[in-house]
Amino acid sequence: MIRVAVNGYGTIGKRVADAVRLQPDMALVGVAKTRPNFEALGAVRSGIPIYVPEGSEEAFERAGIRVAGTVKEMLSRADVIVDATPDGVGEKNRPMYESAGVKAIFQGGEEPEVAEVSFSTLCNYEEALGRRFVRVVSCNTTSLLRVICSLSSLSKVERVRAVIVRRAAETKEVKRGPINSLLPNPARSPSHHARDVKTVLRDLDIFTMAVVAPTTLMHMHFIYAYLREPVTREDVVRALSGSPRIVLVPPELGVEGTAHLFEVGRDLGRKRGDMPEVMVFEESINASGGEVSLMYAVHQESVVVPENVDAIRAVMSAASREETVRLTDSTLGIMRGRLA
Ligand code: NAD
Repeated sequence: MIRVAVNGYGTIGKRVADAVRLQPDMALVGVAKTRPNFEALGAVRSGIPIYVPEGSEEAFERAGIRVAGTVKEMLSRADVIVDATPDGVGEKNRPMYESAGVKAIFQGGEEPEVAEVSFSTLCNYEEALGRRFVRVVSCNTTSLLRVICSLSSLSKVERVRAVIVRRAAETKEVKRGPINSLLPNPARSPSHHARDVKTVLRDLDIFTMAVVAPTTLMHMHFIYAYLREPVTREDVVRALSGSPRIVLVPPELGVEGTAHLFEVGRDLGRKRGDMPEVMVFEESINASGGEVSLMYAVHQESVVVPENVDAIRAVMSAASREETVRLTDSTLGIMRGRLA
């Protein structure tokens, strides 16, 4: 069993912890919390051991939260740490992981230099095998890479142009919210997403622009990919529907936008209504010569969870890409093909 601990139990951390508990080859040592807040209580209710910084045990006990030990003790009991702390904190934590001799998976809010490899299961799983520090790229980059590397099964993708419509805030956000504006974010282009994709696909010619929209549910991408060989629309539909973690949404289901997709996640009975698949609007797919265009929605809170699970297996050299995709997707109930 791979012993996994999660540092930072927020949006990503809680989902990764739940996913780890569903893996037959992994055991969750526990999660680290800095504050005895409602999320800590959620972990306790789920039976997850809580580890805290030295000296803060009493504050947790006072709040009625039993503490399993210090963060240092958690590290000594784990093979791999998933660091899901806020942007930039992972980098500060890295020396702690180094001295504890544990491997670590960082998130996309960290600079690429925090790790040896920036990671996407479908694009470069093998590069992460046996590494000590791996960074799972952001939600937008993860979904761009899934689509690009799936299209690569048809012909080399030489150029990508994409517009990213980003949700304004997380659904749980209390300090900022959707404003009544479409906000270039940033106006200076390309946006950082292109650079992030290139941390994995170094030679790809990619240009991205991004805008924030007043919604909290999901992102939406509009993408043009230019393939070396001409392809038909049927080829593209076949490639995407045959790819893991991509779902085609057919028009006859009446799914008109991200609010409906969010409802689909809840109707499926998924915890928190999560939707870790890239949801492609099937009608949006077009192909002409080597040019392919499509639109898809991305549930930012859950899309990186399967990649985190795969990254754990990769650093432990515990599975091939095919094996980890099969295990992760079957345990998490991840769909592929057409939504039906
Ligand atoms: P979050 O704020 O929801 O959760 C972070 C958690 O870490 C909070 O519970 C916070 O209390 C805790 N924390 C803060 N400082 C800590 C410390 N020093 N030690 C331990 N815990 C600490 O953040 P999030 O949205 O889960 O983001 C985590 C990472 O995942 C970031 O790099 C982010 O860019 C990335 N990411 C986020 C999303 C998303 O949509 N939320 C998607 C993909 C990637």
